[in-house]
Amino acid sequence: MSNISISKITIKRSFFRKLLIPVWTIDSGKPGPVLLVTAAQHGNEVQGSAAIYRFINEHAESVTSGKVIAVPFCNLPAIRKHRPHVKMRVGQEYGDDRGHNMNRTWSGDKKGNSTKRIATAIYEECGRTATHLLDLHAWQKHNAPAILLHGVPKHRELAQKLGVQFIDMRPISEDTLAGKFCTSMRMGITYESAGQYSLDEEQVSLALNVIRNMVYAIGMSSEEVKTKGSAPVIFSDRSTAHEVLAPVAGLLMREPLKLGEAVSKDQPLGIILSDSSLETTIIRAPVDGYLKLFGVSRPDCDVDMASFHPFVNRQDRLAIIVSAL
Ligand SMILES: [Zn+2]
Repeated sequence: MSNISISKITIKRSFFRKLLIPVWTIDSGKPGPVLLVTAAQHGNEVQGSAAIYRFINEHAESVTSGKVIAVPFCNLPAIRKHRPHVKMRVGQEYGDDRGHNMNRTWSGDKKGNSTKRIATAIYEECGRTATHLLDLHAWQKHNAPAILLHGVPKHRELAQKLGVQFIDMRPISEDTLAGKFCTSMRMGITYESAGQYSLDEEQVSLALNVIRNMVYAIGMSSEEVKTKGSAPVIFSDRSTAHEVLAPVAGLLMREPLKLGEAVSKDQPLGIILSDSSLETTIIRAPVDGYLKLFGVSRPDCDVDMASFHPFVNRQDRLAIIVSAL
C-alpha cells in the first residue's frame, strides 16, 4: 500500500520572511526508481500542476515500487503573481527575464537571486536523489503538446512510450532542470502542454497520461494507460520543422484543421484577406507532414493577448509543419 505524504521545502528569502514550497511524496515502501515530477517553473504554466494533483489523487496506488516526488508549484512567487517569472511587468516579454527564468537557473547557485535560491533548494531536497525527472511546462495554445528531448539514445526509447505525438529533439542546456539530469547521466524529460494561463480538461488529461506512462515505462507501476487510436510518434528537430510565414499582411482565416493532423504539400491552410486591396492570398503547406503549430503565435504572445490577433504582418509565423526525422 503506497503512502502519500506532504512535506515543505523552506527557502529563506530575507531575515523576516521565508517561503514554503509544498511537496507530495508517494512511497511504495519498496526499492525502485525515484521519479521527480515538477510543474510550473513558469508561473503561467499550470496544466501540469493539475495533472500532478490528479495523479496523486487517482493513481497513487498504481505506484508499486520506488517513490514519486512531486512539486506542483515550483515557482510559487511567480504563480501567485500570475506571471511567467517573478518581478515581471504587464506586457514584459518572456525572454526579458532579468535572471528570473527558473528553467535557466539549475546550474546551482545558492547565493543567486530569489528564483535561483528556490531552484537550488528544490534540487537539494528533491532532485539530487532522484533517478528520473519529468518536468511539466505549457507553451502557447497554438503549439501541439510535445516532449522536449535531448539526444541521449535510451531517452528516445523511453520518450516514445509516453503517448505523445510530437518529440522535439533539442541540444542539452545544462542550466535547465532536464539538462541537469541528462548531464549527470539520469533520465530528464520535459513535457509541454498546449495553453498557458489556463487549465483545460483535455490538456490536463493528456499530461496526466504522460505521468502515468512514465511511471509505467520505468517499471514503477503495472498500470498501463490504454490510449485509443494514437497517432504515430514523430521525432523532429529544426531540420525537419518547416515554418510557414505570412507572405502578405491581412486578416488570417484558417482552414478548420486540428493540431497534429497530417497535411500534404500544397494543401490550403487558410487565406489572408489583404487590408489594403481586399484581395485574398491562399496559404499552402510547403511539405507533407504534421501540423505542429497552427495560428498566429508571435514570440511574446505568452505575455500579451494582442499577439494572438489574427491580423498578420508580413513574415509573421502562421504554422509549423514537421516531417519525421
Ligand atoms: Zn515553461
